[in-house]
Amino acid sequence: MQKILVTGCCGFIGSNFVRLFMKKNPSIKVRNLDKLTYAGRLENLPDLEKNPDYEFVKGDICDSAIVEKAMDGCDAVINFAAETHVDRSIQDADAFAKTNFFGVKVLCEQAKKQGIEKFVQISTDEVYGQIKSGSFKETDRLNPRNPYSAAKAGGELLAMSYFTTYGLPVVVTRSSNNYGPYQFPEKVMPLFITNLMLGKKVPLYGEGKQIRDWLFVEDNCEAIELCLKKGKAGEIYNIGGEHELQNIDLTKKILKEMNCGEEMIQKVPDRLGHDFRYSLDCDKIKKGLGWKAKTSFETGLKKTADWYKQNEKWWKPLVNQ
Ligand code: NAD
Repeated sequence: MQKILVTGCCGFIGSNFVRLFMKKNPSIKVRNLDKLTYAGRLENLPDLEKNPDYEFVKGDICDSAIVEKAMDGCDAVINFAAETHVDRSIQDADAFAKTNFFGVKVLCEQAKKQGIEKFVQISTDEVYGQIKSGSFKETDRLNPRNPYSAAKAGGELLAMSYFTTYGLPVVVTRSSNNYGPYQFPEKVMPLFITNLMLGKKVPLYGEGKQIRDWLFVEDNCEAIELCLKKGKAGEIYNIGGEHELQNIDLTKKILKEMNCGEEMIQKVPDRLGHDFRYSLDCDKIKKGLGWKAKTSFETGLKKTADWYKQNEKWWKPLVNQ
């Protein structure tokens, strides 16, 4: 593998991925295709600007002419590019349907034409929908319940259809909730940390009974690299932190980390159609590719809070966007 096209690297997970990947793989060049939506920021990768092995192309994955040029000369593709905020998808699903579904089709079509050796589609645990007890395996049926997750489910199904129909070597990853540095402060963990730094209360949906699994972003990046290099074409891999928390307990842990009391919690009306619990069975990637999340939640939370404390310049202009 000499050069890879990675889309959406100016966002949260993509920027963490490309930084770690280039450090570990100095012989592989990276081209980043990103539209620079509100969530995509060149400031997420200042350290790579002058690296001759890194190239940035501004453009939309829905634009086949741009995608054709951006993919030229690449051996593999990882597609992080997506609209990602569930609350925004409930307000207006247009961009979600376009990027998360049609954009994947444009990428797959070009990948087929250009004989790409590996196509990694980054999907999410949200495609399974909620589960009261037990954990989802990769073979379980999909039941996405909001426009974001429905569009992501459509995108991964379409990508997989290019494997079945044309033999495009597609691998799909479904990860749980990521957290870490460079996450846009609309998502729960950075929203709560930055609110507390500004002396504002943290908005908790309903009673905070929902359960999410938390995965430190660098652990997900390692899993994605393994899927790129060793993932079997036509396969799906769950990637979970195996650290489930009720939202109220997550909130209390963040308050403690930020030296704040529970009076800083502001209960707000619940999200429409709020999924109760997500949970992943990660045996397949553990046994098949030898991956395991390494970062404990306590360590990951501290690293994340410290990063936001040290990088006010990064997040202050983004608050309330
Ligand atoms: P993000 O919102 O931080 O970043 C998305 C990036 O995609 C931005 O840089 C944006 O500019 C770019 N983008 C959006 N539309 C585009 C388009 N049409 N063309 C080109 N670029 C475009 O997202 P994230 O949290 O880093 O998520 C990355 C991927 O991981 C997404 O596919 C998401 O569905 C998936 N995922 C995220 C999580 C999570 O907890 N953050 C969990 C599971 C899966």
